[in-house]
Amino acid sequence: MSGQVVVVGGGLAGAKTVEGLRERGYDGGIVLLGTETERPYERPPLSKGYLQGSDERDGAFVHPADWYGAHDVDLRLGTTVRSIDLGARDVVDGSGTRTGWDHLVLATGSEPRRLDVPGAGLDGVVHLRTLDDSDRLRALLRPGTRVVVVGGGWIGLEVTAAARAAGCEVSVLVRDPLPLLAVLGPELAAMFADLHRENGVDLRTRTEISEIVAAGDGTHVGAVELADGTLIDADLVVVGIGAAPRVDLAKAAGLHVEDGVVVDAHLRSSNPHVLAVGDIARAHHPFLGTHLRVEHWANALNQPATAAATVVGADEPYDKLPYFFTDQFDLGMEYVGYVGSHGYDEVVVRGDLQGRELIAFWRREGRVLAAMNVNVWDVVDDVQALIRSRAVIDHDRLADPDVPLAELL
Ligand code: NAP
Repeated sequence: MSGQVVVVGGGLAGAKTVEGLRERGYDGGIVLLGTETERPYERPPLSKGYLQGSDERDGAFVHPADWYGAHDVDLRLGTTVRSIDLGARDVVDGSGTRTGWDHLVLATGSEPRRLDVPGAGLDGVVHLRTLDDSDRLRALLRPGTRVVVVGGGWIGLEVTAAARAAGCEVSVLVRDPLPLLAVLGPELAAMFADLHRENGVDLRTRTEISEIVAAGDGTHVGAVELADGTLIDADLVVVGIGAAPRVDLAKAAGLHVEDGVVVDAHLRSSNPHVLAVGDIARAHHPFLGTHLRVEHWANALNQPATAAATVVGADEPYDKLPYFFTDQFDLGMEYVGYVGSHGYDEVVVRGDLQGRELIAFWRREGRVLAAMNVNVWDVVDDVQALIRSRAVIDHDRLADPDVPLAELL
């Protein structure tokens, strides 16, 4: 093996790609280009343990600082790629340097969406994406601080839990009738709404923001105004309204992009020498039989092994089921599977929904599509086996905690 692999994107997916290449014995040159000046780190602690002060900063990094040199990886931090030349097989960075490749792996991740209302640029209106963002936010979460969280997705709810733990007063503004409604459906989204309200959160649903209003100094946030004229006083506004895949480079290069970079199950794009991994990859999923883009940590963690395999000529399609987890207040959960565009026709609950200790199964025509275990652990392997079996399972046995999951098949 020889040649050179260039990986664009210094996040978890980029770091795991270079690790996977060396693990598989790739002995050519490896260049990892990242815009940030921090070496690659994982994001889950940024809105969970690190934000809450329980995890160490060092624990977020994917590798020790000396790992890259020790593995002959040319890590170029603070370096933004400006263009890709598919014909010349090189990339050009901000300083005009051209770096050639035999394989190019795109791991450019996502960009947080910005609020499009007057006042969105005021001091004290923040997003959470980077380790720096988490450092800054952590310093602002102080007892008595009035925080308004915009968006009832994962960032919004995890930041809310951290802010309450820090003694802040928190209002959460959600457009839908429930937070997480689009992801979980009403049955389980209601559980999160109850959890937050029981923990003293002022959760306001069916709200639309019209403006972020400046305080007397004219530069810092003072309040958030809703479409119905309500004013909510705020010292800090945290915006968590989703993220968009960074696909501009791929698009400009002429690669096939549809929401994400369209790749096959081996993560090859419309140019077989260019691969995509992580948030930006709209990958064909052999088990689910569709293209899928997944913006979660586990995808960024696991897809790179497939990309590395593809580069070294191995045949290892990516077919792990989507997986994510959250920790909020005293609730910990894992979700695995994919409901998909046809939706589900029922949710079967095994355990105690009120007590928030359960496994919920989303089913269609008797088959389990996805499941979420809440404060119940070590069940993900069994749940995945149920999903992969596509077996029609008796409702009462599925709902009965006394029937071991492994005996349902
Ligand atoms: P998210 O989970 O996609 O949630 C964004 C929420 O904001 C959605 O409920 C969305 O509602 C709402 N929204 C969109 N535009 C809005 C607007 N203009 N005003 C008010 N609400 C609006 O995204 P996120 O929480 O910002 O997280 C960013 C990324 O990090 C996501 O990819 C997420 O998966 C990932 N992340 C994951 C975890 C985890 O897995 N535990 C934790 C943190 C972050 P609609 O559905 O109605 O558009």
